[in-house]
Amino acid sequence: MIDREWIKNLPKIDMHCHLDGSIGIETVRSLLSKGELPFGDDELNKALQVSENCTGLTEYLKKFELPLRCLQTEKGLKTATVNLFKQAADENIQYIEIRFAPMLSVYPGLSCKKVIESVVEGLREGEKQYPIRGGIIVCAMRHDTVEKNIEMLKAAREMLGGGVCALDLAGDESAYPTWLQRELFNRAKKWEMPFTIHSGECGSLENVKEAIALGARRLGHGIALKKSEILMEVCRQKRIGIEMCPSSNRQTKAIDSWQEYPLELFLAKDLLVTINTDNRTVSRTSMTEELMIAAEMLQGDKEIIVQLLKHAAEVSFAKEDIKEQLIRKLNKAL
Ligand SMILES: [Zn+2]
Repeated sequence: MIDREWIKNLPKIDMHCHLDGSIGIETVRSLLSKGELPFGDDELNKALQVSENCTGLTEYLKKFELPLRCLQTEKGLKTATVNLFKQAADENIQYIEIRFAPMLSVYPGLSCKKVIESVVEGLREGEKQYPIRGGIIVCAMRHDTVEKNIEMLKAAREMLGGGVCALDLAGDESAYPTWLQRELFNRAKKWEMPFTIHSGECGSLENVKEAIALGARRLGHGIALKKSEILMEVCRQKRIGIEMCPSSNRQTKAIDSWQEYPLELFLAKDLLVTINTDNRTVSRTSMTEELMIAAEMLQGDKEIIVQLLKHAAEVSFAKEDIKEQLIRKLNKAL
């Protein structure tokens, strides 16, 4: 029997959470004009959330159109970020890393710097209103040129340690392999900006290999890693974090069934596996929900559930004192 209340009350950490895919439905409604919203509640829910039997990545990606429209103003960016803190507080998340792609909100009247500043403002407001600490991960996009991504990184760099905590690479992994962005990550290293990279979400072991070679501290999803004993061993030795997002992986068809899910395999290989939400609204989920799924795979083993959260504290991009505080709270959870 898995104890949902126990999981809900645990001090939790979410390190892989996209802002656009996690804006609460009511917040979307408040940020868009009547003309931009679909008619009726059912239609709005359908536009924002995948169906029970999501057909795959194409259906999944369609759900980002509407929330992305909410992120085209300073107010929208800030409000959406504060709203995410509220959702996190409701289930006792203590530390959250929120990621988003600044360039998707840039237009002639809104600079990249202003876009990132607006989310940082939301983060500060969220930290003030709720007992949660957080950091912003800026996502470079795979379909963008290296030059454009470096331009974004340049703006984000000014806020590193002041709200921004890391860099990520998101977008279509199969069409735009990671090596295309080598220069971006070399620049990030030079500027001492740590990074995670979406890798092996839909099967590409090559992208996992490249991310490790580039110096990624964490792998987003990392499902394809299960195909290589050698790379799993490298991840163990380098203490690279694996950001797993069960519901999302199932909905995008990164796996066909839970039997294929490598959570137990990664744990058996001593990897620093973590459980995350990916997109709270699109995936209709929460950290409690994702940990419930993990708990079921792990036969309700409370010690391992807490271990997953300790992994998250260890591989998070948080400052050392925050990490120590999280570990202390987790030690008291059993
Ligand atoms: Zn993601």
